[in-house]
Amino acid sequence: MADATIIKPDLQFVKEIIKGGGESLKKCYQCATCSVVCNVTPEGNPFPRKEMVLAQWGQKDELLASPDIWLCHQCSDCTAYCPRGAKPGEVLNAVRKQSIKQVALVPFLSKIATDPKFIWLLFAIPMVLFYLIMPYRDVSMVPLLNGKMSYSNFMPVWPQVDATFMLTAAFAAFSALVGIKRLWATMAARSGAKGTGSPIGHVIPAVTTILAHKKFADCDVNRLRQWGHLLLFYSFAGLAVVTTVAIVYLYGWKFFGIQAFGSFNFGKSPYPNNDPMKILALVSSVAFAAGFIILLVNRLVKAGKAGLGGYFDWVFLLIVGGVGATGMLAWALRLQEMTAGYWVYYFHLVFVWTLFMYAPYSKFAHLFYRTTAMAFARYTGRDTK
Ligand code: SF4
Ligand code: SF4
Repeated sequence: MADATIIKPDLQFVKEIIKGGGESLKKCYQCATCSVVCNVTPEGNPFPRKEMVLAQWGQKDELLASPDIWLCHQCSDCTAYCPRGAKPGEVLNAVRKQSIKQVALVPFLSKIATDPKFIWLLFAIPMVLFYLIMPYRDVSMVPLLNGKMSYSNFMPVWPQVDATFMLTAAFAAFSALVGIKRLWATMAARSGAKGTGSPIGHVIPAVTTILAHKKFADCDVNRLRQWGHLLLFYSFAGLAVVTTVAIVYLYGWKFFGIQAFGSFNFGKSPYPNNDPMKILALVSSVAFAAGFIILLVNRLVKAGKAGLGGYFDWVFLLIVGGVGATGMLAWALRLQEMTAGYWVYYFHLVFVWTLFMYAPYSKFAHLFYRTTAMAFARYTGRDTK
């Protein structure tokens, strides 16, 4: 008689998935409709049916070592067609949240970013930080610059803004690298599959797939998400260019004495609205707002078919929306010379810091870990599409 295999479920893990938005998990009766309708799953290695049973049985180690949980793009075709309403798209989302926690450099930061109990701490830390480093708590005392309101007088670029964000970005980048390394090691240890070529060679196709958001195009129910994600992604890229140009403007003038020429304005902000940096900032902001609105409206309109998402999704939308709303409002208030803009700018810094700091610990981490899993899947021949 063959030896029996004893399965030891991790019940705490099951509870965490249920708490994280996978409350419908137990409804699954393994019909496999979800794996059939999923257009993203690799041929010959289908998901998410097997992930559903692994989640029901609390097979934490196997589930968190599977690249498939990251190959899922949460387009929710499976959720829409599941005859039992088990919402596999939502369950896999909750599993990814556990994966982020597992590979986190500082697991408590992941708790702050994903647990509703800690929402106060999520925002309290940057609020206290920026309050402590601001030179003028009475905004009527902020000196004018050329007779106009100046956010760089309210919160000096150096050292307050630049030093804070450089340190934060360095910590976030280090956290992401550690997380990527841990995720790769976890997947490699479990899979045992021999890779082909250098892992780095598989990163480039994974990155180009991400840059074009190609996999989102395979979704049926949630097609609009591709546009929402694309607009948000490239607006972030545009704003990153704006930040880099702003640094060149500031330090090029300060350290190298470069003078303004043409429409390029070296020196202290604010810069005129015809400056190329200002125009790119405006275009990126409009794309940002459009992407955010598409994602928000799409999630609400498709909630019946695709699920409403959990706290994990909504707190991220809140942060992203907060960055955009405070950024645009601060700009509009400065144009009107209204000093309330200083406090709006303060909250803008709070939101931006939260976005940066928790990038490897929040929903934002999908960018790093999905790319890693896609490269791993190609490397091991799991995803040949
Ligand atoms: S999640 Fe739904 S569609 Fe998928 S196997 Fe379970 S019951 Fe079937
Ligand atoms: S959410 Fe989309 S990508 Fe993920 S398993 Fe379901 S159908 Fe596939």
